[in-house]
Amino acid sequence: MRILVISDIHANLTALEAVLADAAGFNYQAVWCLGDLVGYGPQPNACVDRVSALPGLVCLVGNHDKAVLGEIDIATFNHDARAAIEWTRAELSAGHRDYLKSLQPQACSGDFTLVHGSPRRPLWEYILDPDVARDNFACFSTRYCLFGHTHVPIIYHQPGASGLCPDSAPQFGQAQALSVERLMINPGSVGQPRDGRPEACYALVDTAASTWEHRRAAYDIARTQTEMRTAGLPDRLITRLAVGW
Ligand code: ZN
Repeated sequence: MRILVISDIHANLTALEAVLADAAGFNYQAVWCLGDLVGYGPQPNACVDRVSALPGLVCLVGNHDKAVLGEIDIATFNHDARAAIEWTRAELSAGHRDYLKSLQPQACSGDFTLVHGSPRRPLWEYILDPDVARDNFACFSTRYCLFGHTHVPIIYHQPGASGLCPDSAPQFGQAQALSVERLMINPGSVGQPRDGRPEACYALVDTAASTWEHRRAAYDIARTQTEMRTAGLPDRLITRLAVGW
């Protein structure tokens, strides 16, 4: 099966459309979305519509989605994120809220565990270093884990005899073998990349060929920024899109 893996769309419809156009040639049969459909960006309703209609969808809920629903205290978010969550609450229709409410933060499909944050704490934990990744290898039983939340594309490899958990940077546009080695893979963020590159980021998985691939899709960043300004979203959230941080 060929699977499109997307995460952290954050209501950036222009970035999402660019990813879907870029991935179209892959003829994917399923889509795994690792959560945070909304928050930060200007098009929450349209992004929920677009994602929920994708084929073979497994869609997780993220911490921003939960905050918009009022299921997480927004005091735990920074000032700009809080402002975006409050704006999104006012913008999101009742039907779109109901859709987000129906989602879980964790799922399993074949050899893959899917989480928003981490297997240990699916909604909250950030896997940002090899130590946290190493601890999380003990918290899922499948061969592979796909996670989001950090907005940074990366691959963590199964800890070796030394107990160290090596990581490697993605090689964009090059299919990699899914070996017997256990892996934790972050596909990166569609709508707000934070790895120093502004293009939308995502991944492809082919279970028949046993491969995965990180990819980038350039999109009209200025268009999203204009929509954010019109919506009155915080300036820092607007400017960071141009630099991928
Ligand atoms: Zn996010």
